[in-house]
Amino acid sequence: MVLIDIDNTLLSFTGYVREAMREGFSFYGLKPYTEAMFPVFEKINNSLWRQLEQGTLTFEELIKCRWDLIFKELEIDFDGIIFEEYFQKRLFNSAVPEDGAEDLLKYLSRKYTLCAASNGPYEQQMNRLRVGKMRDYFSYCFISSQIGAQKPSRQFFDHCFRILREAEFPGLIPEEVIIIGDSISSDISGGINYGMQTCLYQKNMIYERSDCEANHVVSSLSEIKNIL
Ligand SMILES: [Mg+2]
Repeated sequence: MVLIDIDNTLLSFTGYVREAMREGFSFYGLKPYTEAMFPVFEKINNSLWRQLEQGTLTFEELIKCRWDLIFKELEIDFDGIIFEEYFQKRLFNSAVPEDGAEDLLKYLSRKYTLCAASNGPYEQQMNRLRVGKMRDYFSYCFISSQIGAQKPSRQFFDHCFRILREAEFPGLIPEEVIIIGDSISSDISGGINYGMQTCLYQKNMIYERSDCEANHVVSSLSEIKNIL
């Protein structure tokens, strides 16, 4: 049994954001997008998602303040809520695949039951999997907005295991499940705390194997075929 994260594991959220900033800034007549602006998005967005994972911020609160905070730091005078609407609307249909994502799903789906495990809005994430032609590889899709809890919380994984045990795998235990994802704070910590096997996907290999408690660390999705 394999749980797989979606954003920046199967679908490149980073690639999407760059595209949306470049085209959105031009569409609204803001400062032209430069690559130096991306780290500002990343810093603020990551810090907001940490708060969400810790349960100190809701997704509704996040989308209300995200672009106001980014625009303030970029010294752009524009309504963050309007930009967030544009950003969400575009994101709904965006599916920029990570390198090797479809190959990996094809390979894993022949050997294991695959479950998507993602923090985000349900309809949006499901649509992006469909647009990316990845939906059919998954027997189950666990998306936080529908569950009412996010990774890394216990409630999120309790829900996954309850559904899986009731549906097809009555004796399923966490040790028999591996979670693959790019986030140490949500995928890997969540998996370790729940007793699952873990595989960290770090495209740029920021973490050495020894810095991270994950059972496996890979820098490309194709390496996962050597593990599973
Ligand atoms: Mg992710």
